[in-house]
Amino acid sequence: MLKPSPWFRLPDTPAASPKRISIIGAGLAGCFTAREFAERGWSVTVFDAAEHAATQASANTAALLRPHVTRDETLASRFFGEGFDACNDRLQRLINSGHRIQHELEGVLLLLQAAARYPENPLYQFVSQTDASKRAGLAVNAPALFCHSAGWINLPDLCCALLDHAQISLQAATRITNLELVSSQNDNDSPTWRLTDQDHIPYLSQHVVLACGIGLGSFDVCADLPISPVRGQITQRDNPPDNKLTLPVCGRSYAVPVGDRLVLGSTYDRNDRDLQIRPVDHEANLASWQHLFAQPLAADPSTKNTASDLQCEGWVGIRASSPDRLPVLGPMPDMTFYREQYHSLHHGRRTEEFPGARYWPGLYINGAYGSRGTNCAGRCAELLADYVCHRHRLPTPEHTAQTEHTAQSQSVVGDQTKNTLKYLELLHPARFLIRQLKKAPAHRQP
Ligand SMILES: Cc1cc2nc3c(=O)[nH]c(=O)nc-3n(C[C@H](O)[C@H](O)[C@H](O)COP(=O)(O)OP(=O)(O)OC[C@H]3O[C@@H](n4cnc5c(N)ncnc54)[C@H](O)[C@@H]3O)c2cc1C
Repeated sequence: MLKPSPWFRLPDTPAASPKRISIIGAGLAGCFTAREFAERGWSVTVFDAAEHAATQASANTAALLRPHVTRDETLASRFFGEGFDACNDRLQRLINSGHRIQHELEGVLLLLQAAARYPENPLYQFVSQTDASKRAGLAVNAPALFCHSAGWINLPDLCCALLDHAQISLQAATRITNLELVSSQNDNDSPTWRLTDQDHIPYLSQHVVLACGIGLGSFDVCADLPISPVRGQITQRDNPPDNKLTLPVCGRSYAVPVGDRLVLGSTYDRNDRDLQIRPVDHEANLASWQHLFAQPLAADPSTKNTASDLQCEGWVGIRASSPDRLPVLGPMPDMTFYREQYHSLHHGRRTEEFPGARYWPGLYINGAYGSRGTNCAGRCAELLADYVCHRHRLPTPEHTAQTEHTAQSQSVVGDQTKNTLKYLELLHPARFLIRQLKKAPAHRQP
């Protein structure tokens, strides 16, 4: 029996008719979400401040897609595992339907720390340092896990392919500057949100998904979310033909061969939104090579390998990151209600004494992927669309009597529902606030 705590109890989504939804943000999160709703028969409008999709964190032309490898299986590791499959699967379907998406999924080597032990898993195999070096084309520093069907993807290509659907329209160059609920569910009204853009043009929508990466912070409803900016810079340089890296190699940093170029990354600077390329960050990316490889970067060992020596190019993006490095997903809680109703959680009163949670009607959030965009986006979009389209509901006894479900199909539906609800609790937007409220005020973080 599923019985979440009152603060994680989800609202019953109102029957949506007509099935229309607005999504703010055309990065990985917004584009995957748009596609999931479109394939469920919804009309989707995606707003983005930029001239086209995938210009911010999702502008990466060689983002790694690799399994999230952990020693123990947890709900979070299962989520990332399913996210890896969801992204891979979607990529294949888009390619099979004729979309051109630059990618290479020939495998990735994850270098192992000395003491690390990982369980057997069909997603990877253990390889010795010698074998790993042969596969990489260069001498690596450690034995590795070789992850099949992992590699890199061009995210702008992927985002454009996701949006290429008759039910989706992209409204580019439209920054949503204000979000306001103009009617509520009272008196049988459907909730309606007014989105206003930079030119004061209003758009009305009953369902809105906030999927705007670091732009989430500009909306009042997100004020209580501890999502912070993390700047990242990657460095590109030649992949020398006489000493060529042939597979992506990851450890504390990563090196990815893309044609005759190498992508090295990436830096990780919290609370930094500066989009300027920094030579010092190129130096840091070049220096991290030695953590991966047992031979120097350039063919000529006398080269100093400084950014100016090597004609580096690069790219900077700002990740939106949460404190537990899990995404933030689901119906948007009314945080004022949470503060009022759950402020005494730290007294240890019985759970049943608290009222059920309150949410903003028709408003959802999908973001804070941090460095794991490709492992999050596909699964987050599926979970959200399943939830909004009522797929999360356990069949009622009446429904069971009316339909001719077999016991087996009932249990499959039931399992899917339980999974969706478990993940929505894991990724619940109010989880950070609840953790704070469970602590005595003196021990809460400011
Ligand atoms: C240097 C670097 C390297 C990375 N490498 C990898 C990697 O190898 N593998 C991996 O899985 N992940 C990687 N990531 C992380 C991944 O890129 C992100 O997690 C992912 O792209 C985030 O997608 P998003 O849609 O949430 O945000 P974004 O891509 O930032 O999209 C947000 C969109 O919302 C729009 N927007 C914002 N505010 C508004 C508004 N008010 N109105 C309208 N539009 C708005 C923006 O224009 C933008 O298009 C990397 C990130 C960086 C920075």
